[in-house]
Amino acid sequence: MNDAATIPASFRTSGTNLKRAKTHNHRVVLEIIRTRGPIGRTEISEITSLSRQTVQNIVAELERGGIVVMHAGKASGRGHPGMKVQLKADHAFSLGFHVDRLSVTAIVCDLVGEIVWEKSAGLSAASPDAANARIIGLAEEFRASKPELSDRLFGVGLAAPGPFETVDGTPSGADATNFSEFGSKENLDRLQQALGLPVVLQNDASAAALGEHVYGIGRNFNSFAFVQFGMGLGAGLVLNGALYPGSTKNAGEIGHVCVDPVGPPCTCGNSGCLEKYLSLNALCERLALAPTSQYSVTRIEQLFDEGNEGVREWMRDVAPYMRQMISMIDMMLDPEAIILGGIIKPAFLEALLEHASPLPVPPYGANGQDDRIRIGTSGATAVALGATAAAVDALYAPQVSHLLL
Ligand SMILES: [Zn+2]
Repeated sequence: MNDAATIPASFRTSGTNLKRAKTHNHRVVLEIIRTRGPIGRTEISEITSLSRQTVQNIVAELERGGIVVMHAGKASGRGHPGMKVQLKADHAFSLGFHVDRLSVTAIVCDLVGEIVWEKSAGLSAASPDAANARIIGLAEEFRASKPELSDRLFGVGLAAPGPFETVDGTPSGADATNFSEFGSKENLDRLQQALGLPVVLQNDASAAALGEHVYGIGRNFNSFAFVQFGMGLGAGLVLNGALYPGSTKNAGEIGHVCVDPVGPPCTCGNSGCLEKYLSLNALCERLALAPTSQYSVTRIEQLFDEGNEGVREWMRDVAPYMRQMISMIDMMLDPEAIILGGIIKPAFLEALLEHASPLPVPPYGANGQDDRIRIGTSGATAVALGATAAAVDALYAPQVSHLLL
C-alpha cells in the first residue's frame, strides 16, 4: 500500500520554506505515524522524501514531547528487528457522541481507538435541546467517573444523521432519517460553550468512515467509500487518504439519489430517493415497526435471527437497489474498497450483500474483485467511535505543531 502512487499529495514535503517546513514536516511525520503506525523511521523517510536524519530528529522530538513511543518491531528474515514508532495512545483522549432523534451514545477513547468509557441513554424528546442535555449530562458523568483522564480530553466529536442545514441556513425536512437542526451552527456553539471543549460535527456516515480510516480495515486503503446503514442511508468518502467532506459537508448523501422519478415523496423534497427503499426506515415501514422507537433495530435483528420471511422478502426486493448503489459508487469513485457498516449487526449486512449477489463488476482494472466489498465496523457504538476519530482528525492532528514549537 505504500508505493509512491498511493501516497497522498499532502504527505510530500518538497517546496516548503524553512520556517514553515519545521511545522509542516512535524505534522506530516506525525500524521503518518497516526494513520500508519507502528511504522519504521526508514519507511517514513521513504514516504515523505525527508532525509533519514530529519525523520530521526523529528521522531526524537515527538518522543521527548511524550507524543510517540518507540518499540522493537518484529524480526523479519535474518535482519535485525527495526524500531517502530507509534502514537503514545494515552497521551490524549477524545469524547465521541453518536446522536440521533432517539438516543445518544457516548464513547471516550485514546488515540488508537481503545475505548475507556462508554454509555448510552435515550432522549426525553426528539429535539436538539433534549440531545444537548443528554450530551452534557453524559460528559459530566464521564468527568466524575474518570477525573484522572478528564484533563487529557482535547475535543469532542459529534456524529448525527445528515443532511444538515444548507449554507443559506435552510434546514432539510425533519424525520427519523436525519437530525438536520441539531447540526446548526447556533446549536454547536451552544454545545461547545457548555462542554468547555472544541466540538466538531460530522454526519454519521462520514464519522464512521473516519473511524474505519483511523482504527479499522480502512487503514489498508487510501480511497474507499463507507456505506452507513442507519434509519437513513449515507456514505462517507475517504479519497487519497483524507475524508472528502463536500462543499457543505454533505458529500455522500447517496440515500437521496433519485432511483425512481415517480416514486414516493421524500423529506428532502424530491421523489423516489434510494433510502425510501434501501434503509432501516424502509424496512421498519415494511414490518410495521416504528422508526422512531429505539427498540426497532433490536427487533429487526431478532426477526432476522429467527429467519423471518418478511425480512428475507425485503432483502430480495431491495437487492436491485443494493446492486445499483454499489455500481454507482464504483463508477463515480473507482475506490479500492466499499465498506458496509451501520447501526445494525454485521450478519444482517452480510445477508443483504448475499441477496444482492452477483454484484456488478466494474469493466476495468484489478478492482473488479468481489473482496473489494467488505463488512466493516458496525453496531451500536461504531458511529460514536467514528466521532472520536473525527475529533482526532479535526482537532488533535492540527494542534500538534503548537505543542512542539
Ligand atoms: Zn430524499
